[in-house]
Amino acid sequence: MLEVQNLSVGYDQIEVLHDISFKVQRREIVTLVGANGAGKTTLLLTISGILKSSNGKILFNSNEDLTKVKSHDIVKKGIIHVPEGRGILTKLSVYENLLLGVQIQKKDKNRIKDLMEETFNRFPILYERRDQKAGLLSGGEQQMLAVSRALLSDPKILLLDEPSMGLAPIIVEQIYEMIREISKDGVTILLVEQNARKALEVADRGYVLENGHIVLEGDAKNLLKDNSVISAYLGN
Ligand code: ATP
Repeated sequence: MLEVQNLSVGYDQIEVLHDISFKVQRREIVTLVGANGAGKTTLLLTISGILKSSNGKILFNSNEDLTKVKSHDIVKKGIIHVPEGRGILTKLSVYENLLLGVQIQKKDKNRIKDLMEETFNRFPILYERRDQKAGLLSGGEQQMLAVSRALLSDPKILLLDEPSMGLAPIIVEQIYEMIREISKDGVTILLVEQNARKALEVADRGYVLENGHIVLEGDAKNLLKDNSVISAYLGN
């Protein structure tokens, strides 16, 4: 579904991603794990068309190169980014934030009603809080809202940037359970995380990003047992 080939990206003259190649197959969860500053966010921003690459290709559905496509057209293709920090509009209500997801696809009124109902069945807490300002939600609830809004945009692939950031361990468990369920529903997921253990536990395959280079790749189960991954990212 998504194949990144020899991608290099930088800010001004300074390259931060060097010759990156990886792929995500339909219905997979693929994770890119790496420390602070490894280049994970830069990579997702480039796939979403917000940053431009200096070299390489991003192929979607085997043939279409996204590197020259504008970010709003990338969204229309179903490549939906849940950014680091969640991108919630804190002064709008929960319901209004969700509507933004629907409007990307310009659905008719009945369809919007059905989609909202599905969302509220999946996340009853968002129904309870639907009229509250989104900024009043807890961190975990805001992450649920951000992911729900992305799901309302009918994603072919979801790009999740550090969904566990800043959340208490028990809430991280809930967020990862949500990621599992979304995947079971057939959504393809590219997940970038500093929390390598959680990410590799949920993923089918993983890549390790260090200083803008992919240094290791494989089945997530094998990466969890890899000594270099254990010593660099998993502690005990
Ligand atoms: P984190 O987990 O801390 O978000 P990351 O793996 O997502 O880290 P990036 O945010 O992609 O890493 O940053 C990669 C490199 O690019 C870092 O060296 C960072 O300082 C640099 N960088 C990021 N944003 C900019 C920017 N707007 N201008 C210049 N350099 C930047």
